[in-house]
Amino acid sequence: MDSLMEGMKGVILDIDGTLFRGDEPLVDLVALFSLLNKKKLGYVVATNNTKSARSYQQKFKDHGLHLSTDHIFTCTDATADYLKLHYPKGADVFVIGKEALKEEIAQRGFQILSGRERDARVVVVGGDFDLTYEKLKNAVLHIQEGARLIGTNPDMLIPTEEGLVPEAGTTLAAIEAATGSHPIIIGKPEPILFEMAVAKMGLSPKEVIMIGDRLDTDIKGAKQAGLYSLLVETGVDSRKSVVEKGIHPYGIIANLDEFMKILKESR
Ligand SMILES: [Mg+2]
Repeated sequence: MDSLMEGMKGVILDIDGTLFRGDEPLVDLVALFSLLNKKKLGYVVATNNTKSARSYQQKFKDHGLHLSTDHIFTCTDATADYLKLHYPKGADVFVIGKEALKEEIAQRGFQILSGRERDARVVVVGGDFDLTYEKLKNAVLHIQEGARLIGTNPDMLIPTEEGLVPEAGTTLAAIEAATGSHPIIIGKPEPILFEMAVAKMGLSPKEVIMIGDRLDTDIKGAKQAGLYSLLVETGVDSRKSVVEKGIHPYGIIANLDEFMKILKESR
């Protein structure tokens, strides 16, 4: 592990189950990020969550850490950036999703359609607690007319106070069933979110290590993007589930304190 860290130039950190459990930090955040700065490592925190980077910035600030939004990459930001990279400015986009997603896409110069007033170039689907038949129908009709289907993340369910409720993946599955159109998905375990995070740091995949708590999203996604990966045992998965699921990270650590110890000793 020590020799691995010698060659590393950047770190991608998952948020839920890695940096935080709910609102409680799982590590001394200020100490961790000052160590990353001291060791001259690039860093991005990346999450499948579709909250805005700004809301995460506030969450970090509540715990004494000022993190620029350049270092926070949610599926919402990544999806809007992806559109900017691949579609011309001013293109018409139909969005199923929260206001934050529409705002980020509009901010990058796209026209957000309210219905079928024009043909959409792209249909973007994220989690939407106000999903209606009308929205589903419009998405399907736009795709029949040639729009590309893009999903923010593949998660079928999201934990809420009421329990596990449908998320973007469920809506995508419905549209896919209706149209036969296979979506481009930005979030983990697809590699796009991580590839874009690596590009944000100006690094190449083999210079970056991803640290996360879930094998089927973080570790699988890191592997698909060609990154090194470390599993932390503070969230969903553990040493035991590595054997059960057959997804193997480069290393397994108990928590981010252990990562800080490795980093202090190795560089
Ligand atoms: Mg997590």
